[in-house]
Formats: sequence, structure tokens, C-alpha cells
Amino acid sequence: MQVIRSYKFKLYNNAKANGILAHDIEMYSEVYNHCIALYKKYYGIYKKHIGKYDLQKHLTKIKGRYKQRWSSLGSQAIQDITDRTDRAYKLFFSNLKRKKEGENTSPPNFKKRTKYKSFTLKQAGYKLDQKENEIVINKRKYKYFNSREFNGDVKTLTVKRNYKGEIFIIFSVKQEIELRVGFETGKIAGFDFGLTTFLVDSEGKKFISPEYLKNSFEKLRVLHKQLSKKQKGSNNRKKAKIRLNALYERITNQRNDWQWKLALDLVRSYDVICLESLSFIEMQKSKNTTKTKKQKKNRARKVLDLAPGSFFEKVKYKAEEYNKQVVFINKWFPSTQICNVCSFVIGKLDESIREWTCPNCQTHHDRDHNAALNIKEEGTSSLGIGSVSLVDRNIYEPLPF
Ligand SMILES: [Zn+2]
Repeated sequence: MQVIRSYKFKLYNNAKANGILAHDIEMYSEVYNHCIALYKKYYGIYKKHIGKYDLQKHLTKIKGRYKQRWSSLGSQAIQDITDRTDRAYKLFFSNLKRKKEGENTSPPNFKKRTKYKSFTLKQAGYKLDQKENEIVINKRKYKYFNSREFNGDVKTLTVKRNYKGEIFIIFSVKQEIELRVGFETGKIAGFDFGLTTFLVDSEGKKFISPEYLKNSFEKLRVLHKQLSKKQKGSNNRKKAKIRLNALYERITNQRNDWQWKLALDLVRSYDVICLESLSFIEMQKSKNTTKTKKQKKNRARKVLDLAPGSFFEKVKYKAEEYNKQVVFINKWFPSTQICNVCSFVIGKLDESIREWTCPNCQTHHDRDHNAALNIKEEGTSSLGIGSVSLVDRNIYEPLPF
């Protein structure tokens, strides 16, 4: 199977060499802003947006005449900018037409050169030597920290700087990956996501997520306060900002590490994984069961901290690699409201109710475990293989999906 993967490497800290790339990035920001200005002007006159190819022609022309300082810039990277602004404008106009509530209807705008982060080259304009961990960009050599080698077709190279001024190179690579044989465990599982317990599986096992954001909350508060006290534009403010960003980065990294480990654990343990839909997870953010503003804020913060959507994406990614199946159930499926034993519908249960007894069959349920069982059943039936586990049915051959 073919997949596109990205590989990111940090360049050596060579102030002079990296300064050239940083300067290039800022030159590209000029090109970008020039494009935006043209779009705005053109729209002002003709009430429509300028064609991509006209824009490219125009840029090539002025690069040769008035904008000599752009001459070192790669034509493919310039093309990448026109492609991206073109896409952004098309999206803007189509949103404007539909004028859907909540859609982003502000046009693409100018970007400060200091805020501009990257440029992208396609096949030309660079040369990579993985053995020497070296890359030549625009006839200049750069060394990078080679954390891992990769095979495959490099589709694009992106040069990106972060808030500290460090430069990274990111390759987007088309690779042929070998699928491992699936259906090795013969097991299928459903998972109920919750704010109290991150996941409960259909076997009743609970997975509690660390709350990394919450754990660092006091530190974050102090750093935010320090930042607000520093004078705008001062060196100390810059330093305070770097400290704050570094902490946010650490929190994200910790969470990602934990989530990747769990995702791997799940795809190794099961052949089919049934999850709630991602849009259901989105709905959790704004769920209207909370009353006060503060409760709403706490809820939103907790969803942000647990990042279930990002976790589900990881499960999908790992499942693909291990040739396992992930089933997302319909977002309207009332997984908590049905008795898994007799299918009696109890109706909406307040979130504070963690356990209940079915009035029809008298089974005592753990709320989340019962939901996980229902999710498993719903997911399996949508695959057309019924609700009995694969082990029980003794099916080890690939399933017909
Ligand atoms: Zn029942």
C-alpha cells in the first residue's frame, strides 16, 4: 500500500547558514504579501479573483525586472505560494456564497514577515544526501541531525522555522509500506470515551488519561503572568514568550507520547476497534448539560486536555499500519441509553449517573462499560458480522469488507 509520510529533521545551529534560510523565508513572505495585494486590487476592480496562471506569469515577469532580490527564490516555492493563495481564495469565495453560520468568511490576509514560517520546494531546488546528513538548498550546504533514515520518493521539501528561530526541514515522502497480517488476535472491541474515564472498553477495562495541561496549570499561570508584566518589544518579553511556548510544546509532546503508546497497544490487542464518531467527539466540547459559564469553560478545557479527536486519529493511523479495522459508529447512536443485555431503552441518563439497573431485565450496569458493549455491537453489525466476538465464532480468515 502507498502512503505519504513526513520526516522532520533539525538543522545544525549554524547562525550564518540558518540566517540565509530565515532571510529566504522572509523574502517568500514578500512574495506572499505581493500576491495578496494583487488579489485585493484585482477584486476591487473586477469583483472576481485573479487566475492562478496569470498570477504566476506576472510574478515571473517582475522577478526578472523590478524585484531582483527575489531572484534567488525557487520558482517552485513561488508556485507553491500561488497554489496556496489560490486555494485559500477559492475557499473564501465558496464560503461566502454559502454564508454558512460559523464558516470562516474572512479573506486571506497579509502576514507579517516575522510571522511567516516556511516555504516549500517540490522536486527541484535541493539535493539530499542522507549518508552525509547533508542537504543542498539553493547551492548551499546544510547539515541536519539525522534521527532516522527513510526510503521512498520525496515529494516536497519544506523549510520551516519555529518560534526560537531554529530551522527544520520536513520531507513529504511517498512510500510503499508492507502490510502486516491482520486478524491475529481474533478479537474485537468497542470503546466508550468519557471525560471522567478516558476510555472504557467492552471488556470493562478502564484507561485513565493523565491530564497534562491541568498538571502544568500552575506553571502556565505563572509564565503567563510573567509575560504580561514584560514590556512590549523588549528582550525579556521575547524570553518569557519562549519559556511559555516551550512549556506548551512539552505538554503536547507528553500527551502525544502517551496517546501513541495507547493507540499501539489497542491495535496490537484487537483486530477490529469500534469507536464513537469524530463528530460525536466534537459535539462533546459544547454539550449543553452544563449550566454555568465556568462549568462550560472547565468542560471545554478538559476536552482540550484529553484531545480525544487527536487520539482517534492516531488509532486510525496505527490501524492502517497493522492492517486492522477501525469502525466509527453513527454519531446519533445512543450508546449510553440502551441496555446491552435486553435492548431496553432507558433514555437519557444524566452524566452524574455512573451506574444503573435495567428495569426490564434487572441487570446492573456500569454506565461506560454498557456503552462500550453497545458501541462494539453497533460497530460489528455495521460490518455485517453480527455481535458475537470473532473468537467465539472461530473466524480467523479475513472478513468481507
Ligand atoms: Zn435490560
